[in-house]
Amino acid sequence: MRPIVMEEVEALRGVNSVKVKEAHEQGRKIVGMYCIFSPSEIALAADAISVSLCGTSQDPIEEAEKELPRNLCPLIKSSYGFAITDKCPYFYFSDVLLAETTCDGKKKMYELMGKLKPMHVMNLPQTANDEDSLEFWKREMVKFKGFLENQFNTKITDEKLRDAIRLMNRERNVMKRLHKLNAHKPAPLAGTDMMKAQWLKGFNVDKEAGIELIERLIAEVEDRVEKGIYAFDEKAPRILLTGTPIGVGSDKVLKALEEAGASVVAFENCTGYKGLDVMVDEDKDPITALAEKYLSTPCSCMTNNNGRLDLIRRMVDEYKVDGVVDLTWQACHTYNIESYTVKKFVQEELGLPFIQIETDYSDSDTGQVKVRVEAFLETLDSRSLV
Ligand code: SF4
Ligand code: SF4
Repeated sequence: MRPIVMEEVEALRGVNSVKVKEAHEQGRKIVGMYCIFSPSEIALAADAISVSLCGTSQDPIEEAEKELPRNLCPLIKSSYGFAITDKCPYFYFSDVLLAETTCDGKKKMYELMGKLKPMHVMNLPQTANDEDSLEFWKREMVKFKGFLENQFNTKITDEKLRDAIRLMNRERNVMKRLHKLNAHKPAPLAGTDMMKAQWLKGFNVDKEAGIELIERLIAEVEDRVEKGIYAFDEKAPRILLTGTPIGVGSDKVLKALEEAGASVVAFENCTGYKGLDVMVDEDKDPITALAEKYLSTPCSCMTNNNGRLDLIRRMVDEYKVDGVVDLTWQACHTYNIESYTVKKFVQEELGLPFIQIETDYSDSDTGQVKVRVEAFLETLDSRSLV
């Protein structure tokens, strides 16, 4: 039996699509964003609502493919498909869009999407390690702030930025606490529920209400741990999922793993723990603090991306992981190439089984994914018998 609060969490998408419409009608400004490099704090400091628009559904991809190449990452096609079909209320009610120069596919898609609504593009440095990168990224933060001030005819003060930083840190902290519950063996929360709680937070119109809801979920899960109620039994292999982002509709590998009896206890991807690991420094100049936090994101679009290996190492340890699954969306070159480095690191340095699964959002290979996942889990079982 799942935690009862999960029903409220699942209802969030519908509740929030009504709230976003009401907010729009009341004159609140809405900023649509696509990536965890996007500083939501600046949007909140402009008294706007920030919503995540990243496409996780196969449904609009057919329409997107009329304008975009078919051999493109499904996340990019889905995001663009929602934009051109007006099927996403969050895109529809967004007053402005924030894009970023992360991967090539996204940045070229944004050129087309930018014709639909006012869009600001943040130029992301290609590396976090160069001395100039932080200064460059700080200037990008200031430009985005100026864009919102112009668009919304408002003034974003340092005080408002500090308030927004504190609010976002509280949201990150509560999500972090939720993730860390699954460091417990056996895991009290199914990976599919963890993913939903994290993914649906991206649509939260009322952040305080969202934080309160996750607090209640944590309390219920802690109570279940005390009573010995878990999502999986002690013997279930504990999996760390890394790689490309997932959400409701693009979760077939996660589902395949848990349906085959694995317990997905840790999500290193950017729709999981990646964006929660580092808080924004509340004592520094707010623009510097925001630039430092977001530049530290260990995404494969950065070179090098050793921070990802460091995060995987820490999470494998903390979550007592038995095997690592690396998900790659088809045509995502950065994660696909980086998979070789991650594989060598996991197998040779951490001594754990590793599998890369490259797929898309469609159901066409669901059977094949199931077979590969089951074969991988068998290798974990045979290790535990040695
Ligand atoms: S994988 Fe990287 S570029 Fe893609 S959404 Fe996540 S952080 Fe952004
Ligand atoms: S999954 Fe890869 S190709 Fe797709 S948007 Fe993210 S970085 Fe780009």
